[in-house]
Amino acid sequence: MIRINEDYLKLHASYLFADIARRVGAYQLANPGVEIIKMGIGDVTEPLPNACREAFHGAIDDMGQRETFHGYGPEQGYPFLRDAIAEHDFQRRGVDLSPEEIFISDGSKCDCGNIQEIFAKDITVAVPDPVYPVYVDTNVMAGRTGSCIDGRYENLVYLESTPENGYMPSLPEQPVDLIYLCFPNNPTGAIATVEQLRQWVDYARENGAVILFDAAYESFIRDDSVPHSIFEIEGARETAIEFRSFSKNAGFTGTRCAFTVVPRELTVRDSGGIEQSLHSLWSRRQSTKFNGVSYPVQRAAAAVYTPQGQQEVAALTDYYLGNARIIREKITPLGYDCAGGENSPFIWINTGGDSWEFFDLLLTKAGVVCTPGVGFGNCGQGHIRLSAFNTRERITEALERITSVL
Ligand code: PLP
Repeated sequence: MIRINEDYLKLHASYLFADIARRVGAYQLANPGVEIIKMGIGDVTEPLPNACREAFHGAIDDMGQRETFHGYGPEQGYPFLRDAIAEHDFQRRGVDLSPEEIFISDGSKCDCGNIQEIFAKDITVAVPDPVYPVYVDTNVMAGRTGSCIDGRYENLVYLESTPENGYMPSLPEQPVDLIYLCFPNNPTGAIATVEQLRQWVDYARENGAVILFDAAYESFIRDDSVPHSIFEIEGARETAIEFRSFSKNAGFTGTRCAFTVVPRELTVRDSGGIEQSLHSLWSRRQSTKFNGVSYPVQRAAAAVYTPQGQQEVAALTDYYLGNARIIREKITPLGYDCAGGENSPFIWINTGGDSWEFFDLLLTKAGVVCTPGVGFGNCGQGHIRLSAFNTRERITEALERITSVL
């Protein structure tokens, strides 16, 4: 008889957003006159840059002519986009990386969720706490964990990010094989310095581990000393995979385009002791299960790297960072410690009390929706996350309401 993959039954995380929706729905029903402002979501609000829109239109026109029509494209992405990424995002920052090491995809969520399938089932996985839930849930689905007990899955190693360590987890005390890192971090907004990343790279090299480095929020970095890529660290090519996305820099959350960098040097031994290339495995995986991102979307993404695109993307991210500054400037004088918001669109607020109580307070007294930190992991307890992805008007209004309540 057919049976389901019972590892799916262990999943827990989706309760967070369902719970938020339920509480917001109940409040709105009881208070139909209140205009609720959502500062919990990570979705962008501002439209696509003109450069992308024009390239998109042009590519649609290409698709309407036999001479310029495109059918199936290369599974790993068109060279025009891979070349532009390699040059602008890496080579110009002094990172030695070739276009063939870049795999274009329809989202970082898919890539950082799918990548785990090229690793053995019985490896030890380390995830930050708090964490972007995709890293955890995809390993649960793959059967690498036991049950969830008191908010933590058996067999996962949790790397704690707390006020005491400045939301920068320490190296694990036990050996681990696969390490998820995300900087600038979602949800804490913390950034990693060159020195901190070097410790992780050194750890991974010494322990034969692989780092999965999620840089989805890289475009918000403004501090020149902060690395944009893990490949700025010596030795990272032998030990790391990096995920990037056009979602947050160019507003592609609904358009869908991202990429993953798998260096050619990155190898892992199989059970017979033979070195296997992760680049080859990921390429094989994508060729088998993915049929590429649409030609118009890749043309739109490539427009990010034109002079006009670069200017528009900088203006977009500056806009959200301006929102983040307003949030920090209004929240800090109220006596709350905040992380993030400087090189990141997220502000992580230490409320000093229960996350859900603070959520309810903001919802019922200010009509503002935040994300309770505990929803991202046990170490998120006592925190909430506010997102700068909103219009300036709504952010200003929300902060006026919050200030008058707290
Ligand atoms: N990685 C992190 C840390 C994110 O917060 C998000 C989206 O919120 C993603 C990846 C997903 O990005 P994409 O839209 O490219 O799937």
